[in-house]
Amino acid sequence: MLNIVLFGPPGAGKGTQSEKIISKYSLTHISTGDLFRKHLSEGTDLGKLAQKYMDEGNLVPDEVVIGMVEVKIKETGDVAGFIFDGFPRTVAQAEALDQLLESRNTPISGMVALEVEDDELRNRILERGKDSGRADDQSIDKINNRISVYKNETLPVAEFYKNQDKFYPINGVGSIDSIFENICDKIDSFK
Ligand code: ADP
Repeated sequence: MLNIVLFGPPGAGKGTQSEKIISKYSLTHISTGDLFRKHLSEGTDLGKLAQKYMDEGNLVPDEVVIGMVEVKIKETGDVAGFIFDGFPRTVAQAEALDQLLESRNTPISGMVALEVEDDELRNRILERGKDSGRADDQSIDKINNRISVYKNETLPVAEFYKNQDKFYPINGVGSIDSIFENICDKIDSFK
């Protein structure tokens, strides 16, 4: 199996690139942000619980996120591989993911990390906020909070994969297609 962690700060382009990766490599998408937004729109208990964290740009507690991903992995049958998008966002989540994949006898192949500087992130998210309808895209304070949560809580996840020799940084600034080409070069080197 080909199991990819697509990593990067909010606004780095993970959603855009994951669509292209999925169609090229036939991977199963697990985006925790999308899963939470689906719960929110359906008004489930999980959605209600997650909303207060998401609206402020804070992380949903690990046990909630891990439980949701566990269900998703377990209900998925035989697939070519998974792409994890927006997950893991803490070292505890990364450890849990390794264990979940161990139970399917398949490891993470590599982490592709999109790198974009803060000012560009802020501009992109504010632009997206004009029509995304996402509460967390609407104010500069919330956006800045997401960027600092990323630095404090999520960046250590990159170290986790560096220690496993599975870290592949990519410049996330440029045309969508040229970034995608660079991503594919890395992914092809995993196989
Ligand atoms: P972005 O990368 O643009 O910030 P996402 O769609 O990945 O947005 O996530 C939106 C929000 O959902 C996060 O700010 C957080 O509140 C919650 N969330 C998503 N994934 C996770 C996760 N793995 N751990 C904790 N919270 C998460």
